[in-house]
Amino acid sequence: MTKEEKKTLEKRLASLDSNERNRLLKRAAQMRKLAQRKNGTRPRRAYLALAEDDEPEEIGIRQPQSSLHDWVLKLLQDEESGEAAASTPRHPVGTVIAIGPRSAEVVLDGKMLTCLLSKEIAERQQSEIAVGDEVEVLRRGDDAIVENVRPRRTRLSRPDPHVAAQERVIVANVDVVVVVVSVVSPPLHPRLIDRYLIAIRRGGAQAVLCINKTDLLEPAALEAELEAIRPYLGLGVPVIRCSASQGIGKEELRQALAGKVSAFVGHSGVGKSSLLNSMKPDLDLEVGDVSQGYGRGTHTTTRSTMWDLGDGTRVIDTPGVRSFGLWKLTAEELPWYFPEFGEAGRCKFRDCGHTHEPTCAVKSAVEDGRISRDRYETYLRILESL
Ligand code: GDP
Ligand code: ZN
Repeated sequence: MTKEEKKTLEKRLASLDSNERNRLLKRAAQMRKLAQRKNGTRPRRAYLALAEDDEPEEIGIRQPQSSLHDWVLKLLQDEESGEAAASTPRHPVGTVIAIGPRSAEVVLDGKMLTCLLSKEIAERQQSEIAVGDEVEVLRRGDDAIVENVRPRRTRLSRPDPHVAAQERVIVANVDVVVVVVSVVSPPLHPRLIDRYLIAIRRGGAQAVLCINKTDLLEPAALEAELEAIRPYLGLGVPVIRCSASQGIGKEELRQALAGKVSAFVGHSGVGKSSLLNSMKPDLDLEVGDVSQGYGRGTHTTTRSTMWDLGDGTRVIDTPGVRSFGLWKLTAEELPWYFPEFGEAGRCKFRDCGHTHEPTCAVKSAVEDGRISRDRYETYLRILESL
């Protein structure tokens, strides 16, 4: 490694977030230990102690050779060159805008192309390929074949409703996920919102909450209903009030999504297709009949499709869901997705689960109204289900 390379890597290391740095440190420490065992050299007194949180703490004298720091840099270098190799596509790359049985609609060089899925991808279709994926397309005679799915920037996943051990990727590479709910018909379900927010955060996209059908309530009743939404404002989630049928909120929605790739998710019948139509009338998406509405088979969107609204704005309409499971979430991770818990103060126990423990800052915050009781109840329910 040259001095220049070392400098660049050091800069890169400093720019990583603490989780990532910690991961590299731990992995480098393991590798060094293995190498030392192999070479028969006894590990010297620890040069670095991994502090519990993140920053490594120097406790010894810097060793000139094979310091843990050097190992970390070497590891970073190896990982980055590995990623660079993975990031060189072998075939032209297009974007999946819809998926059918054993095939995908792909936009490549501005043209739409129906592609067959390679056998490996077709077999694991629902986790291997999703609308929004960037794919490498191989041309063979008249056929176009999806050969490879590029690494995803973001994803929204849930467990397969029938095979819980299998991941189902709903959309890939979206910047924003718009969770659409309606104030009535179907009624507002904050617990579904909470679940979506967790999955969106985990998948790396931004969440926007869209409250539709505001025309169906008188102002006072609407305000009362929207009390349930108040906790999300505190979490920094943009909340947009809409009425697709009256065109309310469509400008705000358009601005929030301008130049981005987004996906509309939520129960069926909440007005996802209607909102998209209101943003771009010539889309003319089919709209479900609300009387038979929410989820009993007559709803219209049965598969996800990406639509181009112009000026780089693209949106994915997804089929309605009845429930939304959380993919591979652990009890330890769960509190991370309730950022307000972190602001509640210190619990007596560091590994407090905020359930039965005495002197729990989260429970006190729920008692005095700093944390929404509804959100806390969602937390307990999800925890129970894990
Ligand atoms: P999706 O399943 O979420 O795509 O919902 P649709 O867009 O198909 O709409 C379901 C039903 O709700 C249709 O009958 C729409 O006309 C109706 N709807 C959608 N948005 C609104 C709205 O803002 N106000 C009212 N009153 N009805 C709406
Ligand atoms: Zn606690």
